[in-house]
Amino acid sequence: MSSVTELATRFRAGEKSALARAISWAENGDPAYAEFARGVYASVGRAWRTGITGPPGAGKSTLVNELARVLRAQQKTVGILAVDPSSPISGGALLGDRIRMEERTSDAGVYIRSMASRGSHGGLSRAASDACDVIDAFGIDEVLLETVGVGQAEYDVVSATDTVLVVLCPGAGDGIQAMKAGILEVADVLVVNKVDLPGSDRLLMDLEEAAHVRHAGQGRWVPPVVGCSAGKSQGIEDVLAAMETHRVHLRGLGLETVRASKRVAQVQRVLHERLSSALWGPGGQGQRVRALLEAGRTPYDVVDELSSALLESLHGRGSPG
Ligand code: GDP
Repeated sequence: MSSVTELATRFRAGEKSALARAISWAENGDPAYAEFARGVYASVGRAWRTGITGPPGAGKSTLVNELARVLRAQQKTVGILAVDPSSPISGGALLGDRIRMEERTSDAGVYIRSMASRGSHGGLSRAASDACDVIDAFGIDEVLLETVGVGQAEYDVVSATDTVLVVLCPGAGDGIQAMKAGILEVADVLVVNKVDLPGSDRLLMDLEEAAHVRHAGQGRWVPPVVGCSAGKSQGIEDVLAAMETHRVHLRGLGLETVRASKRVAQVQRVLHERLSSALWGPGGQGQRVRALLEAGRTPYDVVDELSSALLESLHGRGSPG
């Protein structure tokens, strides 16, 4: 039995070690992952994927822990993926620092995993999306994909999910103002955490107004603004209710259509990663590019020449099996 077949068998039997291994394959861009994915792909699409992003310290980890607690009480299984595009540290260190959920880790209905940029050769959003597929195919009901910070790389990561929560808290100052446009673009639900602190009413009002101004009249989804206090286990049901409203909205639009466009985006990510490594990885075109430029060719001529070389190299490694 090949290692892929063996892993798929253990995976289907519900062994968490097989789940962990499959995610590592995805994370490392291991060629075995493509074969593994083919075997389990039919089981992908049952889980709901929620991305959680926002500035460090807003309370994302605390909220994820609380969401997991309530979802578990509803008898749902939960997969938590903590993703850090800015950190080269992977595995245990990140998990230990980030997720303080002793209660959750001892629960067989919860799977927790962290991912950082090192293991994924720069294709972290591709890897995170694959990891969501793997967790989904394993039969877990709810995937919570949490980013450590906020920014373009984090937006890319959460764009693979169905519902994106942006978590903010009062007192974070001007940074929030600066980020607002981007945040409103990416948010399906705006969560104001730490409503026990002063300034939260103002932030709730500001966000409410900004969300309406931005989305009004466009026939688009207006992200609901919800307050909670994850640290005090308050308002978590309200956050889940807002998530549910978005779920209903997507189902109304046609979930398959919405997800199909995310699949196209995943193809783009995989292709991008493959092209990049064919071009600039070992045995790539770096030296040739320099030589052509030194010989006086324009960048455009170099691109023309490279395109044909690239297509050849893709053909070389593209045939399945
Ligand atoms: P993250 O960096 O966004 O994941 O934030 P954390 O979940 O690590 O929380 C950052 C800090 O905020 C921690 O010290 C938490 O205990 C605290 N915190 C989380 N939720 C609340 C809350 O609802 N109210 C208050 N006052 N503090 C909170």
